[in-house]
Amino acid sequence: MNRAKLSDIVGIINKIAPPALAEEWDNVGLQVGDTSAEIGRIMVALDPGLPAIDAAIQSSCQLLLSHHPFIFKPLKRITSGDETGRLIQKSIRGGLAVLSLHTNYDTAANGVNDLLARALGLEKLSPLRIVKREELLKLVVYIPETHLDAVMAELLQYGVMQGHYDECSFRAAGIGTFRPLDGAAPFIGTSGKRESVAESRFEILLPKTGLQPALKALYKVHPYDEPAFDIVPLLNEGELAGIGRIGLLPAPVAVREFAVQVKQRLSAASVRVVGDLDRQTAKVALCGGSGMSLLHEAVRAGADTFVTGDIKYHEAREAEALGITLIDAGHFATEQLMVAGLATRLGLELKKRKFDAEVLQCSLETDPFVTL
Ligand SMILES: [Zn+2]
Repeated sequence: MNRAKLSDIVGIINKIAPPALAEEWDNVGLQVGDTSAEIGRIMVALDPGLPAIDAAIQSSCQLLLSHHPFIFKPLKRITSGDETGRLIQKSIRGGLAVLSLHTNYDTAANGVNDLLARALGLEKLSPLRIVKREELLKLVVYIPETHLDAVMAELLQYGVMQGHYDECSFRAAGIGTFRPLDGAAPFIGTSGKRESVAESRFEILLPKTGLQPALKALYKVHPYDEPAFDIVPLLNEGELAGIGRIGLLPAPVAVREFAVQVKQRLSAASVRVVGDLDRQTAKVALCGGSGMSLLHEAVRAGADTFVTGDIKYHEAREAEALGITLIDAGHFATEQLMVAGLATRLGLELKKRKFDAEVLQCSLETDPFVTL
């Protein structure tokens, strides 16, 4: 097992939720921390507030991974005069780094909105508002047969998923030649003499955002001091990435019944419904957190129900006029499921890379709204 550095965890999180998917106004990524620090324990939380920071420090975590950004507005000072300043000082004193995801994790495949859609039993999902298509490239690496398994195992972690398949690659055997010159530190061969080595040409599709981490990993595991590789731009189109999701229920149900299912499946204290409770619903759009800016996309996409949080009075009136049912399950309940989802995913990614860091889920967070 290896000890993970903060920079390793940042690399893994950037793969799970590529920063390029974040909205322009957002502030995602490492907010506080030393990238060379060793990380043995990580806590995942929705909000980087006092309960999560206290819980993380008390549980001897070196990293808090939060969904909402720790630092959102630009800071002019870090003092005890405001909450953010106090929390930043507390986390630094406690040796706690803070890494935040947000709209990148809302948008990413298997992020907040996919977790929410699956929790509600939706099938045949697609994004509600397309943000971008992932740009793809092909990495071709020449690997001596002696190191094929080790280099492949490392690079396969960075490949794109193709439908429901991961670890997709191609390889063919061949002979590589080279002649070490003065100043070379050859892994095989002697200076001035041409060498022929049994090598494999290994090909893998990568997201453009995954190239730098993959090359860094390649230099770490490839035995040659000058590994040979090609970076090939492609015209193939990657997966569509977008905010919100729309999908189908396995069978139509009455809005009343679906609303109760939403409440139970998200462990929400209550849900508010706008529209006819006896109407049937089958095509459901959703967006975790505050999603009402997607109302018109939901209507255009043909959704009969839209599940989100933070719905205001006039927005409810607009939905009535548009003829779409709204279910407000609250900001907290529509996003809190990211804690378990991200902790599980990160745990698997750490295990794949043989890092011994442990991932905890913050259990102290509660909905700030109490329903009487
Ligand atoms: Zn949120």
